[in-house]
Amino acid sequence: FLSDKSAKIFVAGHRGLVGSAVHRRLLSLGFTNVLTRSHSELDLTRQSDVEAFFSAELPRYVIVCAAKVGGIHANSTFPADFIAVNLQIQTNVIDAAYRSGCVRKLLFLGSSCIYPKHAPQPIPESALLTGPLEPTNEWYAIAKIAGIKMCQAYRIQHGWDAISAMPTNLYGPWDNFHPENSHVLPALIRRFHEAKSNDAKEVVVWGSGSPLREFLHVDDLADAVVFLMERYSGLEHVNVGRGREVSIKELAELVKEVVGFRGALVWDSSKPDGTPRKLMDSSKLAAMGWEPKIALKEGLEETYRWYLEHVVK
Ligand code: GDP
Repeated sequence: FLSDKSAKIFVAGHRGLVGSAVHRRLLSLGFTNVLTRSHSELDLTRQSDVEAFFSAELPRYVIVCAAKVGGIHANSTFPADFIAVNLQIQTNVIDAAYRSGCVRKLLFLGSSCIYPKHAPQPIPESALLTGPLEPTNEWYAIAKIAGIKMCQAYRIQHGWDAISAMPTNLYGPWDNFHPENSHVLPALIRRFHEAKSNDAKEVVVWGSGSPLREFLHVDDLADAVVFLMERYSGLEHVNVGRGREVSIKELAELVKEVVGFRGALVWDSSKPDGTPRKLMDSSKLAAMGWEPKIALKEGLEETYRWYLEHVVK
């Protein structure tokens, strides 16, 4: 892959958090033929449009970053959208990529929510499908599990090189900073920033503060994606995490410090905590020789700067 810099690579979903990071990484590595389509140019939920795109463009590599994503609130409010849109996008892209006959390798991206709610911690790849899912995001999770299985099935039946990577909670530039529908880290950056700007006395944070989460900067994920495209061709999906976790309370304190808000934190226990702990076991990837580089505080400072330049302006 890395010696094929002029090959056509389709990054599906290049405007999102993950896709934009993968796109940046490929360009910075010197790939000269990265193919992208915005949502208005190509609607990935439309099977015939996706098929026509693949037969016209004939890419050699595909990285599937396109997905409908959201935090705990969005997932429980729009379950039909989360299951249907994700199944449509990934089925269309994976199947059209295979049937175009020109794609040498495809990487499908999922998320740590594919694992059972009570999976052993840290969560190894082998925990997949060993128990019931966290109900707040099972719609999204079921779609992503189907994507992993689809890659495995195409490898088994057709000998096609489709792999899957499951990142932990991600953050970074181009994230969704929506006040209700985003994930916790961008939601807190926004809420603390607005509280600071309005001289508010307190900031409300959801839940109890005790759930533990692992956060990976999306530029680290993009680095891992390139690493896997180059080095991995196995049947099983691969976890991508930092191997460190923080409580939501610690995260809130850290965001408060980075943003420079001086007021108090108030916990809203009417909001759900979600799964109590979600740390991935990323030792399989570590054993292949990959490690993350961006510390949480450094990543938060960079993301807050990006937020100020691109969202607040
Ligand atoms: P999850 O990792 O799939 O549970 O998704 P989230 O990132 O949405 O939530 C992670 C944890 O942060 C949960 O325990 C939430 O209750 C908590 N949390 C605290 N404040 C917020 C907030 O403002 N937005 C979100 N999305 N979660 C929050």
